[in-house]
Amino acid sequence: DLYNKLIELKGNIRVFCRCRPLNAEEIAEGASTAIDFESAKDGELIVKGHVSSKKVFKFDSVFSPDEDQEKVFEKTAPFATSVLDGFNVCIFAYGQTGTGKTFTMEGIEGARGVNYRTLEELFRVIKERDGIFLYEVTVSVLEVYNEQIHDLLLTGSQPGATTKRLEVRQVAEGVHHVPGLVEARVTNMNEAWEVLQTGSKARVVGSTNANEHSSRSHCIHCVMVKGENLINGECTKSKLWLIDLAGSERVAKTDAQGERLKEAQNINKSLSALGDVISALATKTPHIPFRNSKLTHLLQDSLSGDSKTLMFVQISPNENDVGETLCSLNFASRVR
Ligand code: ADP
Ligand code: MG
Repeated sequence: DLYNKLIELKGNIRVFCRCRPLNAEEIAEGASTAIDFESAKDGELIVKGHVSSKKVFKFDSVFSPDEDQEKVFEKTAPFATSVLDGFNVCIFAYGQTGTGKTFTMEGIEGARGVNYRTLEELFRVIKERDGIFLYEVTVSVLEVYNEQIHDLLLTGSQPGATTKRLEVRQVAEGVHHVPGLVEARVTNMNEAWEVLQTGSKARVVGSTNANEHSSRSHCIHCVMVKGENLINGECTKSKLWLIDLAGSERVAKTDAQGERLKEAQNINKSLSALGDVISALATKTPHIPFRNSKLTHLLQDSLSGDSKTLMFVQISPNENDVGETLCSLNFASRVR
């Protein structure tokens, strides 16, 4: 029908906008909110300005601060589970540090995020399809920091380490591979969760300030699925990438020197490369600049072709953050 035609025309890129609540500190300071969720149901987000300069952004979904992890996952699940039908999928969280990227992807104690819920849902569906499909699932955990890929499941390869850097290699037309990357076979949720935890721990151990480090690197989980249809013998091989991106905030030139400046430049480079690739895909530009960053090179197979991309643009409601918020919303509008 018409609706499906429209979806088809739009391609396989979706953008969800999620706004965190004001935190206790902001409330205590009497911070005011710059965001209006009046038309959120229609996918509209309004950044309040002085009457004349209010800005309206349109997304596939808008999640206000009171929508919980379950609500968010309800809309995310169809993307995530399509990896079981042979689709390559990328799910990103983009935004300024402190806007809830990690909250959305990893979640916190008592409020699990997309990563956990996705694996749970995958194993639920795999069980449901028992006898019809046979699946093999492997998981990798990696990080891109300063344009270097680190394997967080490989013992001794800690973030920031200069040894055991991984590279992306093209092994066949349209097939990219990271030689040496650990791919852990998992057969149930407990095993999968254990692997993800191992990866998270490696990330923390290797850095002096875990929070700072994590906001300056891209944290990547990859779920690889081999599926066999037991009825017609058809086989599929696909990947699902779950990515907590580095903070998108602009670092003031005066604050950034030495290592910090290099980090900021690398983050900038990879986030703008990602924006360029997704918008080139959305507009069906013939040349897609995948090689401009490690991240886009790594994700090449899963961004192109018949793949699906979901971007969470995370924002703060605080009026004081409105500059960064507008930057993030503009970035997201560009890729949509
Ligand atoms: P980021 O990863 O983008 O830097 P975090 O995920 O660390 O941001 O979020 C910053 C803080 O805000 C954390 O304490 C987090 O628990 C909280 N937070 C973020 N989003 C939400 C939300 N939707 N509901 C409740 N708390 C949130
Ligand atoms: Mg974070």
